[in-house]
Amino acid sequence: MITCHCVLNANAKVYPLATERGIFSNVVSPYIEAGCGLFQLPCPELSYLGMNRWGMTKEQYDHSNFRAHCRDILRYPLVQLQAFARAGYELVGILGMDGSPNCGVTLTCRGYRGGELCPLSRVSDQVKSLRFIPGKGVFMEEFLEMLRQIGLQPELFAIREKEITA
Ligand code: SF4
Repeated sequence: MITCHCVLNANAKVYPLATERGIFSNVVSPYIEAGCGLFQLPCPELSYLGMNRWGMTKEQYDHSNFRAHCRDILRYPLVQLQAFARAGYELVGILGMDGSPNCGVTLTCRGYRGGELCPLSRVSDQVKSLRFIPGKGVFMEEFLEMLRQIGLQPELFAIREKEITA
């Protein structure tokens, strides 16, 4: 099973959005008990903006240089996944994080209002404009396209948290 990074390391999430400490163990336990290996993807936001990033929306990440960054950090994971596939291992699927602007599978988030957040009234405007919409996050779009190019089309699963998840 391929997992987005924070499924196995919730510390990568924007503070204070993590709803789990460490690992989403309830979600991954059945796979572990069934004998699946877990293949952890890199976190594109952590490697691009670090731990001091704000929570952002898909519009903000939907930029050619960020997409290039996603493809860049996926290059070696892709090589490894292709090696597993060629060796005959079963790819159970991808476990994403719904609501995320990057790792959402059925749900991502939009609502960027633009510009500075000051004065404070603009912060509440920004928060009010956030919404979940059907669709995939930027990183997931790039990952699925790279997988498609090497002939892999795994089943998609996602954790859905209550709040914006990245
Ligand atoms: S959902 Fe967000 S924090 Fe988790 S791996 Fe994806 S980008 Fe990183």
